Amino acid sequence: MPKGKYHLITYGCQMNKADSERIAAVMEGLGFEATADENAADVIILNSCSVRQSAEDRVFGKLRDYSLLREKNPGLIVGVTGCLPGRDLDGKIRKKLMKADLYFPIRELQELPTRLAGLRPDLFEVSGPALDNYLSIAPKRPRDFHANIVIQTGCNKFCTYCVVPYARGREWNRPAKDILAEARAVLATGVVSLDLLGQAVNAYVAPDPEAFSPANPYKNTFAALLWELNQLEGLQRLGFTSPHPLHMDDEVIDSLALPKMMNFLNLPAQAGNDEVLRRMNRRYTAAQYLDIIAKVRRRLPDIALGTDLIVGFPGETAEQFEDTLKLYRAADFDISYPAMYSPRSGTTSARFFPDDVPREEKKRRWRAVQTLMEQVVLKKNQKYVGTEVEVLIDSCARGWCSGHSREMKLTRFRSEENLVGKTVVVRITKAMEWMLEGEAVSHKP
Ligand code: SF4
Repeated sequence: MPKGKYHLITYGCQMNKADSERIAAVMEGLGFEATADENAADVIILNSCSVRQSAEDRVFGKLRDYSLLREKNPGLIVGVTGCLPGRDLDGKIRKKLMKADLYFPIRELQELPTRLAGLRPDLFEVSGPALDNYLSIAPKRPRDFHANIVIQTGCNKFCTYCVVPYARGREWNRPAKDILAEARAVLATGVVSLDLLGQAVNAYVAPDPEAFSPANPYKNTFAALLWELNQLEGLQRLGFTSPHPLHMDDEVIDSLALPKMMNFLNLPAQAGNDEVLRRMNRRYTAAQYLDIIAKVRRRLPDIALGTDLIVGFPGETAEQFEDTLKLYRAADFDISYPAMYSPRSGTTSARFFPDDVPREEKKRRWRAVQTLMEQVVLKKNQKYVGTEVEVLIDSCARGWCSGHSREMKLTRFRSEENLVGKTVVVRITKAMEWMLEGEAVSHKP
């Protein structure tokens, strides 16, 4: 019989989703069960995101709604964690969120049981030893064939537009021993695909390189970690999010060719103009970025490439934006994730660079990237027609199964069988911008 119910809302990126799996583990460890109904909850936790103002506004809106809930349920506990408390170094946001009973950065998650017991000693009691860091909490994952594993949190890069170094603090790398143990544990549950998460994930430095086996050929400990994970039985696919160009050294590039790696790399460029890159504090030039891409393609000629771009960064002229389109064409990306610049309080760009590109112009630049992307990707996808790709199926409905190829191409084929979680070889017969279509040739059990 559960002691009560909790309702958890997650905003933002994969990292926040992975953090929420740990929040769920803490709550369930305290004897609480999840509910999708906020009216039925004893505890509501909002795992917030600060990447855009709109994401923060949603948290403020929810807290206003919960004032009504409290009238019906005076014992209700509402907590806010994630990026908002993380970046609130001067406590100004806390003042606006006084309606939250709990307000803590995610790195203090291990203290949640003590804080809950402080608020409702009738409901919560604390037992067991305190953990020294929140990543030591084993996540509660849905039963699935895919899992994310956090290998690093925080960031030291201080790109001028980014809130992460404030929201999550400085870069902290998990021991390789813990990462490998977590990977083995999830693979034992039937997971076949893993993604490693970190803010500048390829900057990973193992604090315990002795965890790697003597046969490991790499000195760079991110490449070494990829190699160790590639040896694990049951693993079929391994990817990672998000790498930084500064850390794409020769060993990391070499390790992309390990047998279980995705044949896909999303390497954020953010802009194609050197002056804009300098003001973003990205610490590379467009030419250096393209040099990395060329090296990656020499190692893996068929790799699919993606990038993140910011359009309308303060001071970016129309000519400077053209350099982003030039970089796009030169890199021949398969996909990009363009975002219109929006200032985040506390960051260097918000403090020192006026947000001077009009919104309409930002939208025009965003559309220009989108149009170019659609032209390039359609041409690139045509090359798959007549070839075979390996698809990990994540959905089967109404006579179609679909999933992603190793190149992260959404691919579908006719099937009445439920093949979710299986890997199917598909011969491609048709290519569209955002989907490949084909016929199943064979599948792995
Ligand atoms: S590397 Fe990524 S997370 Fe770190 S400051 Fe730059 S954009 Fe933010």
